[in-house]
This record gives sequence, structure tokens and C-alpha cells, in this order.
Amino acid sequence: MTVEFQSRSCPVCGSTDDSRVFAEKTLDDSTWKDLSFSSRKLPEYLVHRMVECPGCDVVYASPAPHEKVLEQAYRAAPFVSAEESAFAAETYRRLLRTLLASLNGRANALDVGASDGTFLQALLDEGFENVVGIEPAAASAEAAPESVRNRIRVEPFRRASLAGERFDLVTAFQTLEHVSDPVRVVRDAYELLEVGGAILVVVHNRRALLTRLVGRRSPILDVEHVQLFSPRSIRELLQRAGFEDIRVAGVTNRYPLRYWFKLAPLSAGLKSPLLARLEHSRIGSLPISLRPGNLVASGRRRAPSDPAVAT
Ligand SMILES: [Zn+2]
Repeated sequence: MTVEFQSRSCPVCGSTDDSRVFAEKTLDDSTWKDLSFSSRKLPEYLVHRMVECPGCDVVYASPAPHEKVLEQAYRAAPFVSAEESAFAAETYRRLLRTLLASLNGRANALDVGASDGTFLQALLDEGFENVVGIEPAAASAEAAPESVRNRIRVEPFRRASLAGERFDLVTAFQTLEHVSDPVRVVRDAYELLEVGGAILVVVHNRRALLTRLVGRRSPILDVEHVQLFSPRSIRELLQRAGFEDIRVAGVTNRYPLRYWFKLAPLSAGLKSPLLARLEHSRIGSLPISLRPGNLVASGRRRAPSDPAVAT
């Protein structure tokens, strides 16, 4: 199979200035074929050609695989770890709580990139009546517990397939890096929200100190990420979709030691034997809180302007 790569303009602001090369490409068609796509796997240090946008500060892959190639890769991606997914959901639930009081209602929530549905369960536990998950990877959805399994739709996120549905909350955790057109995703989310409804997203922060220190060895430089945000670019993304009351902040994550170790910028030769030892040890399970460089951003769907006020 030959992979179709295509040049892109900036996926946030549309700038066509691709002169600032952030990372040269280290993968080719043959290495691409062998990659397995999944969330939270071992970093592979293979990257697309990454460009830094002078307009909005996002870093993006160009050329990047065609959208249908990406969607195909995600459909077949294996599910990695229920334990890590549970820790991530706990972090996201904490972020959700800061937003709950200001929501108009808790009738309907949508989670884009729902994985094994752990966060859907958290939404139910927080009092949402109806929750829907969208997850392109069948294996992840199949790993969902019975209580939420039938709430996950195994498909790429498309507003058309949710026509007629409305949500008080749309969430997308570490999903916007993976899609060909992040503006379309947040615009679709905006259109699916009730007036006053909120979006809550988590993305990697390419401007985080830790990320900058480890440079090319950073686990966020990864073939799965076709864009990498910064505080400025994630804000711009939400603004372009029409959101108001936008807030952007850093995230503290809590994961087992072995997970942090998996992400550490060490060579595979050094890492694999140590990881194997941590895998089944008690110390490897120790939960550790770190601020590794994630951003949380939220925004609200504005009320339509009142014509009586406008005149
Ligand atoms: Zn841009």
C-alpha cells in the first residue's frame, strides 16, 4: 500500500507560510506501514515533517497522511491500557468539576475520542442523564465496560451523524492532535452544543518547559500527532469556532510510575529492560502527579445576538 501524503496549510489559521521547519521528517512509506496507531503507546521517535505556523503558533505536519488514511489507521488501532485510561479519566473528571457549576444543564454530554468509555462512566457519575461517545477504534470501544459499551459509536466524528442531537457539554481529550481538520471538529462541536453549553478539551502543550527541554525526544513529537498546540494556538482554535469565555490552563496528570517511565526520553535499549521490571512491580504502580505539559481549554457557545438589541 502506498500512503497518500498531502501538503497542508495551517490547520488552525490557514496560513500557507511553511518556511519555519520545526522537525525534519524521519519516517518514510515503509516505516509508516509498520506503525500501529493507538493512544498512550511507547513513543517511536518517528515524525512527519513538522512546520511551525508564524501566524498562530501551532506546529503541524506537512505533508501529512490523507484524512482517509488516518481514519483507516485509527479504525484498526489496538487498545493499550485500561489502567492508564482510568488514571486519565480521573484527571479529566477533576477538570470537569471546575466547569460543572456554570453549565445550564446536565442532560446530554458528548465525548469525542471516547476510547474505552471510562470518561463516559465519569460523566454518568457526575449526573449527566444521556452520554454519547464517539470512538473510531473498534478495539478501544470493545474494551468498554458493559455499563457504557452501547453508548459508544464506533465511527469518526461527524456532525452529520449526530444531526438532531444537542449537548450541554462536548469533551475531547488528547484527540485534537490526531485529526486532519481540528477547526472542523471544534466547529462541529459548537454547532452540536446548546446555547450556553461548553466545550472542554485537553491537548499536549508544545511550549511546556519539559517538552522544550527534551526537544526531539519528546513523546509528543509522534507520527500520530498531525498538529501540536500551545496556549496561543488552542485559544485561537476555539475562537475560530465561535466560542466565547475561553479559558486555557496547565494540567496536572496523575499516572503510575511505569507510565511516566514509558514516556521518558531514554533509548529503547535502556528503557525496555527497566520497563519490564516495573511492569509487574508494586513500585511501578505507584501513582505520581506531574505537570508534564498538557493544556486544558474550555469555551462556551454564545447566545445568538438579539435583533431587538442589535438595532
Ligand atoms: Zn496558523
